[in-house]
Amino acid sequence: MQYPISGGQIIGFSESRSGSQTFQSTNPATGSLNEWHFLEATPQEADRAMQMARQAFRVYRQKPGPARAAFLRRIAELLEEGAEALVPLYVAESGLPEGRARGELGRTTGQLRKFADQAEDGSWMAATIDTADLARQPIPKPDLRKCLAPLGPVVVFGASNFPLAFSTAGGDTASAFAAGCPVVVKGHPLHPATGEWVARAIQQAAEQTGMPEGVFSHLQGTTHSLGASLVQHPATAAVGFTGSRAGGLALAALGQGRQVPIPVFAEMGSINPVLLLPEALSAGDKWAAAYAQSVTLGTGQFCTNPGLLIGLEGEALEGFRETLAREMNQIPQACMLGEGIAARYIRMQETLLQENGVRRIGAPAAAPGVNCVPPTVAAVSGSDFKASPTLQEEVFGPFTLVVGCRDEGEMLQVLESLEGQLTGTVLASEAECGQYRVHIAALESRVGRILFNGVPTGVEVGPAMHHGGPFPATTDSRFTSVGADAIYRWARPVSYQNAPQELLPEALRDANLLGIWRTIDGVPTRESIHNE
Ligand code: NAP
Repeated sequence: MQYPISGGQIIGFSESRSGSQTFQSTNPATGSLNEWHFLEATPQEADRAMQMARQAFRVYRQKPGPARAAFLRRIAELLEEGAEALVPLYVAESGLPEGRARGELGRTTGQLRKFADQAEDGSWMAATIDTADLARQPIPKPDLRKCLAPLGPVVVFGASNFPLAFSTAGGDTASAFAAGCPVVVKGHPLHPATGEWVARAIQQAAEQTGMPEGVFSHLQGTTHSLGASLVQHPATAAVGFTGSRAGGLALAALGQGRQVPIPVFAEMGSINPVLLLPEALSAGDKWAAAYAQSVTLGTGQFCTNPGLLIGLEGEALEGFRETLAREMNQIPQACMLGEGIAARYIRMQETLLQENGVRRIGAPAAAPGVNCVPPTVAAVSGSDFKASPTLQEEVFGPFTLVVGCRDEGEMLQVLESLEGQLTGTVLASEAECGQYRVHIAALESRVGRILFNGVPTGVEVGPAMHHGGPFPATTDSRFTSVGADAIYRWARPVSYQNAPQELLPEALRDANLLGIWRTIDGVPTRESIHNE
């Protein structure tokens, strides 16, 4: 499968080339410009994409689950068929190795198929029927039926660190399509060729499976004004975003400031605290080696990167810190995703190292190539950590801060001072899990996922995953951007009272033609309602 990279906007079933300003992506591994030129989308193109999405919503929302599923599965097939063309684009724009590209492609097509299954199954709509009781006293009980309905056009901001799995055809897009929402993607400017290629595959899949024109558009640009105009457009019903806190907060404020406010589901990263309990540290160098891998995985450019390790000061913690720093320096360094991200890492790392009481562990390794950065382990006492809000800021990259607490009381205070996080990890023996219950509970209250005796990097895409967390990790801790429940961001409940059968959504009619699980008069069932 070959698609041209021509640098235009993909709007509905056409390509649009109205803009005059162009930009190029850079190969982060070499520092040289990639060959393709991309047009910046104009305000008129942004408006057209949103107007078409609004039109398409009227048709797409009525498409039965199996039809949406066919669309999602076709996207997955086209991505797989084109892997040999797509992978080199990904590598040239991200600097990430080919193996990562192929792994992420597999995750992306897996997500598309999981959301296809969900769309087809339809049980996610949570169809609930309370049948009428006309004999009820003192007043008759009405027939009341409720299910989830799609919100409307969704704007998705692709993430720099996942050019496939959190970008054009990533989890936000797939879950929105599954829910019945058209999608307009604002491509990430670091990987516009990857974005355009994937957008063309989605465009083709939409045409081949009979989806309405406008169900998908893809706009490129390097200015905040493009993203802002999409969030502010009256046709936009919701927004999915993964990226920086500054970006997420700016877009969330725009979503709230509209005449009709809309939800902006922003995942803004996290420092993913790890509680290092004494018996775990006494188990040799196992955890230092595992954390050296986890902190440097993908050059630390993961939202689940463990950026904060909290232990009790003493010989064991000291040994752990030294081994961790040594191991991290031995891991071959790869480039970061872009010059700006590498520069931000250096700046943030220096800012944190200058905070009161913070010291670097070991000597910094030389950074061998373009956009490469030295991995860093820093250390600070519990009291200095508590005194500095700066020390809770994300250093996006291979950085971690080890907090040495004076005693268990201070350790609890440190945990209680933490901001909201995507994940929290506990390294503990079985006995410590009981002994440190209060500490573990304090950590749990601040995170969306708590894990035991492992590393937080590596997010399983499954029904029980929650990839979200209290603010500022995300703008709404009740929702996830990974796993089956991601679909609930794009839907709202609607109740129908005494509605005629033909006006009800299929999911709520007496005959359960979709064969979905429904709750009828309090009982989960797949049965139809039979009226004598
Ligand atoms: P970003 O700067 O937040 O940008 C993400 C997307 O949002 C881009 O398309 C950007 O487009 C748009 N955007 C950002 N601020 C905006 C604003 N005020 N108004 C409208 N649109 C806006 O993230 P990034 O480029 O991926 O990386 C920058 C930093 O974000 C990293 O160094 C890292 O600290 C953090 N980050 C965190 C995660 C995570 O998982 N938490 C992931 C990636 C990055 P334009 O720039 O074209 O406007």
